[in-house]
Formats: sequence, structure tokens, C-alpha cells
Amino acid sequence: MAIMDVRKAGDKVLKTKAEPVLRVDKKIRKLLDDMAQTMYSADGVGLAAPQVGISLRVIVIDVNEELIELINPVITKSEGCELGNEGCLSIPGVFGEVERFAEVTVTGLNRFGKNISITGTGLLSRALQHEIDHLDGILFIEKAQTIHRGK
Ligand code: ZN
Repeated sequence: MAIMDVRKAGDKVLKTKAEPVLRVDKKIRKLLDDMAQTMYSADGVGLAAPQVGISLRVIVIDVNEELIELINPVITKSEGCELGNEGCLSIPGVFGEVERFAEVTVTGLNRFGKNISITGTGLLSRALQHEIDHLDGILFIEKAQTIHRGK
């Protein structure tokens, strides 16, 4: 496993719509491993492949000591809305209040190419939407209602 460089706002890859993964193979499993290690070493709760310079639809999330890996994630169900604080490893030191769906169901593929579905509320719901936005070239500061520096 390897820790990858996290790209910062201003990098073109963060504004690019990522491509779907066509085949879940060894290379994708290595990307998932490296992304998880990068996320943990940066003390993050989520990371999308464009943030490490790879324009593919792959995300990792860990909000509750359980690693979630999703390939080609799609929101298939959403409910309610909730305003909450967000930050991003690509925009260090900046935080903001973003309105998100309170609950989402996301389907995608796991590291073996099998279909999986994850339903989340609270921070998990927020992280899923934040990371999927990265795959579409969207940063949370574009959606934030307020932005501030520091914690
Ligand atoms: Zn982010």
C-alpha cells in the first residue's frame, strides 16, 4: 500500500467529471487500498479517486470505524434534508455549512465487482454525497451556504 498525494483545490482533476470503472481488477483493488491508507493517514472520513489524481468513479469512506469502498456509486434514493458542517482534504482549513439529503441509498460495486447497496443517515449520508460530488467535479465550497476558516 502507498500513501498518495492529495490534490488541492485549483487542480484541474478536481473539476473533471470522472469516468466509470469498466472492469474491477487488481489495479482497482490496489487503488482502493492506497486510497484508504491515504484517507486514514490524513485523518479524513472520505476520499474520492480524483482527489489522488485518478479520474475514475471510486470512493472510500470511514465515518464509524468501518471502511466502505464503492465503485461507480449512484444515489438511487434520497429523503429529507439537513444542514451540516463539512470540510475537505483538498481544501485544508476551510469549512462550511452544506445542505444535503438526510438519508441516501447508494448502489455501486464492491472490490470484487459485485453489486452492493448502502443506506446512510447523518455523517454517512453527508460523506456519500460529498464524495459522489467529487466524481462530478463538484467541491463542497460551491454548495456551501456559509464558509469559514479554522475548525
Ligand atoms: Zn472532499
